[in-house]
Amino acid sequence: MSRSLYWKITVPFTLLVLVGLGVLGSFMATSARHAQLQSLRSHLANEARLVADASLPGLTTPDSRGALDALAKKTGREIDARVTIIARGGAVLGDTQEDPSSMEDHSSRPEVMQALASGEGQSTRYSTTIRQDMMYVAVPITSQGELIGVARVALPATAVKSYVNSAVFTTASTMAVAGLLVILAAALIGRMITRPLKQMTRAAQGIASGQLEQQIQVRTGDELGQLARAFNEMSLSLKKSMAAVSAEKTRLATVLSSMTDGVIITDSEGQVLLANSAAEHYFAFKEARAIGKPLIEVVHDHEVDEAVKGCLKTAREQTGQIDVNGRFLRVVAVRFESGKSPGALALFQDLTEMRSLQTMRREFVGNVSHELRTPLTGMKAIVETLQDGAINDGKVATDFLRKLDTEVDAMTQMVTELLELSRIEGGRAKLKSEPVDLNLLMEEAVARLSPQAERAQVSLAVERSSELPLVPADRERIRQVIANLVHNAIKFTPAGGKVTVEARSENSAVVTRVSDTGIGIPREDLPHVFERFYKADKSRSSGGTGLGLAIAKHTVQAHGGNIWVESEEGKGSTFSFSLPLGPH
Ligand code: ADP
Repeated sequence: MSRSLYWKITVPFTLLVLVGLGVLGSFMATSARHAQLQSLRSHLANEARLVADASLPGLTTPDSRGALDALAKKTGREIDARVTIIARGGAVLGDTQEDPSSMEDHSSRPEVMQALASGEGQSTRYSTTIRQDMMYVAVPITSQGELIGVARVALPATAVKSYVNSAVFTTASTMAVAGLLVILAAALIGRMITRPLKQMTRAAQGIASGQLEQQIQVRTGDELGQLARAFNEMSLSLKKSMAAVSAEKTRLATVLSSMTDGVIITDSEGQVLLANSAAEHYFAFKEARAIGKPLIEVVHDHEVDEAVKGCLKTAREQTGQIDVNGRFLRVVAVRFESGKSPGALALFQDLTEMRSLQTMRREFVGNVSHELRTPLTGMKAIVETLQDGAINDGKVATDFLRKLDTEVDAMTQMVTELLELSRIEGGRAKLKSEPVDLNLLMEEAVARLSPQAERAQVSLAVERSSELPLVPADRERIRQVIANLVHNAIKFTPAGGKVTVEARSENSAVVTRVSDTGIGIPREDLPHVFERFYKADKSRSSGGTGLGLAIAKHTVQAHGGNIWVESEEGKGSTFSFSLPLGPH
């Protein structure tokens, strides 16, 4: 408290003024005391002169001397003082308080001696007559230039003191009131000065704690008012710059968080300063826990750590490729200068999909080559056999030519299906959507395939649904899908088995099911049957291309529907696909 500006201003100011008032007060009290005494003395001298005038007749007429005592007593009572009339020789002729005859000679009293010598005498001393301190003033009594006695007026010292003290008391109380006013004024001035300072302190504390809306009311135009105004301007501009910084930060954060590439920024020591959500996702960490930690502890990958350290050391861009948490990432680390020390920025591009596409393309080319080489090898063998002379044997030649024709058909079929698949996958196959009755489509497909079912001795049945809504679909393509599923079902069902086709309306879609009592599909193959060139039983020559289900899947998906399979090895399979009723 004592250290506050308020006390620093008020205490010295008050002390200074109080000391000044004290000095002035004591000086004034002394002067007042002196003046009071002076005025009392001259007052008593006047009274004494009046007594001298009044006692003249008594003194000049010898017979009336007895009247002087009465005059002294009467006048003393009137002026409330002790009056003594003394003869030239010193004998007391009249006294207010005592009997003059019992009083001693007064010629040696200092005031009497002075009065006789210089015309007026005064003294303050102990009175042996009435036994108390008294203040005496004496004047000579003259008659026609001749000194005939002395008139003396006296007051008790206590009365003189109280008279003089009243003046000193007035001075002292005036000083005390002035002192109090000074203390009050000092308190007010101190408060006036410190209040805006306190306000500013509070406002500055508010700003420090993040509340930038601080404004101080400016009441004066003095230095404090100017300071308050400057503070308000500073607070406003601080708020503006903070808003700009935070807008910039938000923009940067939005950019970083919406980036699919991972970003990690480190300081010159390789400690993480910032990481975006993509980086969090790739390396499975939480940014809040990663800040301030060494990079290696966050990403747990030496190649990344080396790349960042390398770019910090050499200032050259470092690149690399890493496999992390099932992803294939390209790493680019660059050094940047920030302030005094450099920092590093590591960028992670997810190339997983690109790599799997490349793998798929490689596998696809391999598969196509393999699928084409088999019939081509057969065809080459036939051609060679024919060249070796079989061409001359009409029956054998016809047989070989038929085989050649079958192989060419199979290859044509595969190429057609590949083209179809690539068109649907690339979204280039335009769907001719029209309301389609699936009951009718099932029957058409089944009718086309019943000769084949008969040959395989598999019974083929359609279960019509009575209230089946029409579905918006490309009639020809969906017929192709159903035919494909039924064809597969017949193909993978041994003689005596059964294939059933049905369609049901379920949850705003129509679901078509093709069930068979065939060989089924091994559990581990189920997730792959819709992949191109996938054949569950590779040893078994089904005569298929492995493209049928892939085409079916893409066709159904292009209609906004789904296709799935449930199967148990040895018991049979059910392939189902749904087509939404609404527009897709
Ligand atoms: P494919 O031309 O070989 O029939 P698909 O794409 O139509 O090609 O079928 C892929 C594989 O799925 C088949 O080779 C077969 O192993 C399996 N498959 C398809 N339908 C059935 C079914 N109804 N029963 C058992 N296996 C099937």
